[in-house]
Amino acid sequence: MDKEKLARTIKGEIAQAIGEEVIVSVRDSIAELRGRSSSLQNAVDAGHIAAGSEQVRQVVNEIDYPGKMPVVLPPKISDELTGKEFDVVIIGGGVIGLAIARELSRFDLKIALIERHHDLGMDQTAHCNAMIHPALLTERGTLKWEMNYKGNAMWDEVASRLDVDFKRIGTLVVAENPDEELFLPGVVDLARIQNDPEPKVLDREGLDRIEPGLAPNIKKGVLVWNTGVIGVFELIIAYAENAWANGVKLFLDTSATGVHVEGGSIKAVETTRGRVKTRILVNAAGLYSDKIAELAGDRFFTIHPRKGETIIFDKSYQPVQTVLATFSMVGERSAYSKGGGLIPTVDGNLQFGPTAEDVCDREDVSTTSVARETLFNRFAPALERVKPHYTRPDRGTIITHFAGCRAATYKEDFIIEPSKKVKGLVHVAGIQSPGLAAAPAVAERAKEIIVENWHPADNVKFEPRRRRSKHYSELDQRERIELIRSNPLYGHIVCRCEHVSEGEIVKALHGDIAAQSIDAIKRRTRSGSGRCQGGFCMPRVLEIISRESNISKQLVTKNGGKSFILNGKVKQVRE
Ligand SMILES: Cc1cc2nc3c(=O)[nH]c(=O)nc-3n(C[C@H](O)[C@H](O)[C@H](O)COP(=O)(O)OP(=O)(O)OC[C@H]3O[C@@H](n4cnc5c(N)ncnc54)[C@H](O)[C@@H]3O)c2cc1C
Repeated sequence: MDKEKLARTIKGEIAQAIGEEVIVSVRDSIAELRGRSSSLQNAVDAGHIAAGSEQVRQVVNEIDYPGKMPVVLPPKISDELTGKEFDVVIIGGGVIGLAIARELSRFDLKIALIERHHDLGMDQTAHCNAMIHPALLTERGTLKWEMNYKGNAMWDEVASRLDVDFKRIGTLVVAENPDEELFLPGVVDLARIQNDPEPKVLDREGLDRIEPGLAPNIKKGVLVWNTGVIGVFELIIAYAENAWANGVKLFLDTSATGVHVEGGSIKAVETTRGRVKTRILVNAAGLYSDKIAELAGDRFFTIHPRKGETIIFDKSYQPVQTVLATFSMVGERSAYSKGGGLIPTVDGNLQFGPTAEDVCDREDVSTTSVARETLFNRFAPALERVKPHYTRPDRGTIITHFAGCRAATYKEDFIIEPSKKVKGLVHVAGIQSPGLAAAPAVAERAKEIIVENWHPADNVKFEPRRRRSKHYSELDQRERIELIRSNPLYGHIVCRCEHVSEGEIVKALHGDIAAQSIDAIKRRTRSGSGRCQGGFCMPRVLEIISRESNISKQLVTKNGGKSFILNGKVKQVRE
């Protein structure tokens, strides 16, 4: 079909579906949508309709709608990076940018990673459910599917090399009645079709070993054993420490605000801290990857944020060992979401979530009572039904509720490719769920692109291993005594819920990838992650940060930027 005809067809399909006229043009198989729509949902639906055409490679959706948020670039704050020169600059310190940084550090390349936040992994990665998904529910034939099944299989080695907690707890799909038992072979077939390893078919005895306390009516199930859970914050630091140890330079609090292209090739990145020269630019900017592509003159996709909210229960309430699923839950998937579920964390909490809702603002991390109730009302009855011998789920045991946006393209697939327009630019974009599960494979694919095009020599000093120090709470009595003897700060427990010592907090403040805020300490040590959510330890952590960083308490932030906790003295104390 010629491009005018294709544009007319798409325009007609959109008008029919949403009842609104938008302007559609097609160039180089990219559909561009413009005009005005009465709602966000209509604009998003229009994007998906355009993407539905097989002849459309990507969609740029410029449709205006009430509440649309423009992307505003931050102002320049210094020139300290001007004059620096690298072979590769990676924009984005989420799991993808960091995994790529580590992968590229196998080569003799000067690499820099720039991250706009004061800490790493704070966007999608921090708000994910830390589940290493099987490829069971990704659409076969997509790049997302390929990266998912390949990435999943890589985690045992990656987690062991980086010394990160990772457990293959499995997804257990149970049949609640004889009719549902008939569907279980279908789960096994699906896993085969999806290139997942063969799941295990379990009878009641097998089920009791894996997931004790199931309701008596549950006689059969299928264990998709390759589902894993991982310590995602530990992983971020591990990737960063290993990349750093192998020579990668990390620049935090640094936003990319421009891309310099000359003669069709990447020359430099403009940042809030000055101009950095580079010949290769990796766009791993997550929710802003379309903006980076636009800054480089290669705008061919649009990210539309899809928010997910999750609730987490106290460790005292943890009735499941696996990602437990019933057929009724599987039935509640939507077109662009796996539908959430009952997901244990590697630390022993239970999560209900996430939700999936298109939103206007990429920065929307707000939590709502509507989502909390939706999640509770959806998953609590199923849990009560399949695990009747456990205490009933209770809203009082919810310790926190968080939200973050997924970086979805309208094709709903990953983009991992060299730019077709700008030499030296590599896009690693649209990495929404299951991007964490896929991360090692995505990084490997990005590496292959760079190796094929630039043939770098090996880094003969590359060290693939990283070792972490055990948390105080993981030590036995003898190890604790020894540690406290060597440094009495380990004998002072600051976070009582998670048993985090002052020694660990001080270490996190002076580590290679040093924490600079209360939440950064939480991500590294778990201080504030327990039942009281920092109610007890936050003032103490604040004091320690102030003392160790030699800054006034008023300058200590909850999570970077201007998230100050104290704004002045209530009364003057006479010394
Ligand atoms: C609610 C939710 C639940 C999820 N659950 C799972 C799950 O259980 N399992 C799974 O496999 N996947 C899950 N995902 C998906 C997974 O989190 C993402 O696919 C993955 O984290 C993507 O990583 P990333 O590095 O591409 O993006 P991000 O983590 O968003 O990182 C991109 C980084 O780029 C930085 N950046 C952006 N613009 C600039 C700029 N101009 N200059 C400098 N830096 C910039 C950002 O600050 C950010 O840190 C979930 C996602 C969400 C939102």
